[in-house]
Amino acid sequence: MPTILDGNRIRDAIKEELRPRIARLAAAKRPPGFAAVLVGNNPASETYVRTKTKTSQDLGMCSQKLALPESITTEELLAIVNHLNTRKDVDGILVQLPLPPQVDTKRILLSVAPDKDVDGLHPYNVGCLVAGLPALRPCTPAGILQLLQRYEIPIAGRRAVVVGRSDLVGKPVALILLERNATVTICHSKTTDLAGVCREADILVAAVGRPALLTADHIKPGATVIDVGINSLESREEVARIFRNSAEKLAAFERKGSVLVGDADPFALAERAGAYTPVPGGVGPLTIVMLMANIVDSAERHLEI
Ligand code: NDP
Repeated sequence: MPTILDGNRIRDAIKEELRPRIARLAAAKRPPGFAAVLVGNNPASETYVRTKTKTSQDLGMCSQKLALPESITTEELLAIVNHLNTRKDVDGILVQLPLPPQVDTKRILLSVAPDKDVDGLHPYNVGCLVAGLPALRPCTPAGILQLLQRYEIPIAGRRAVVVGRSDLVGKPVALILLERNATVTICHSKTTDLAGVCREADILVAAVGRPALLTADHIKPGATVIDVGINSLESREEVARIFRNSAEKLAAFERKGSVLVGDADPFALAERAGAYTPVPGGVGPLTIVMLMANIVDSAERHLEI
């Protein structure tokens, strides 16, 4: 039986480790401060920001949401970010994406002070990752490392294959695995013989965004598979095909109108992998808790604790 890598359990463990660090900061100086910038009324962005601010408050941080109008200009938003950069009570700034089309997203993300860039996506922090220097790490890739380490899955000397090369997930995961001495290959939409390359992996990371793209043909028996993909299936036929007419999944589809699946075929994972992350409940829960960890790290640096 493969090991199911339980992201909810690891998230809860990391949260419990953060609580005393937050309490210590609050007792010595002040609680960590977090500012989330939300522009417009995109319902998904509103949900993400609400979850992030609520999680930080539940942990005892001082967080605030800046809700700004959809019509904001690049210059106005730059002024707000610059003000947050100078505030001594703010350790982490998160600008929720996407921004409206009139706003220059690259300029805004570049304007966040690197020491407050708790998403870890500023080129300064990415450069530090490339150079092996300590810095704020992107949250999802940092969560994947936590998952592997806490389940004691060896990384050094192993063959790792990362499918997907986004700045958000694929590239930083590959760099983090390389930093831990894996032998890393990155695949993308132009890779030839994707299945053959994936079959070489002891650790296979799928960050593609294509439902059940990876099949048994892609998975070496006993491999660890980290399925980052979150894909919403919105047709009954697709649910029936991917989940092989599972009565449970079809009932869930009738109830909710959609069902989630990762980038790997769930049956192939169960049959071939040695360990794997389920979707949902694998990588997903770790992203927000690693954001919290970045805020605490940043506060400890700012307050020299
Ligand atoms: P992007 O769309 O930015 O990148 C997808 C990558 O997959 C690209 O590099 C693309 O290649 C590659 N790709 C697309 N099709 C294929 C294919 N047929 N074969 C091989 N490679 C292919 O996605 P993200 O990295 O932002 O996200 C990936 C998935 O992870 C999504 O489902 C997203 O929802 C999920 N996600 C989950 C998170 C979590 O917390 N669990 C957090 C962030 C993302 P190319 O570069 O050539 O176009």
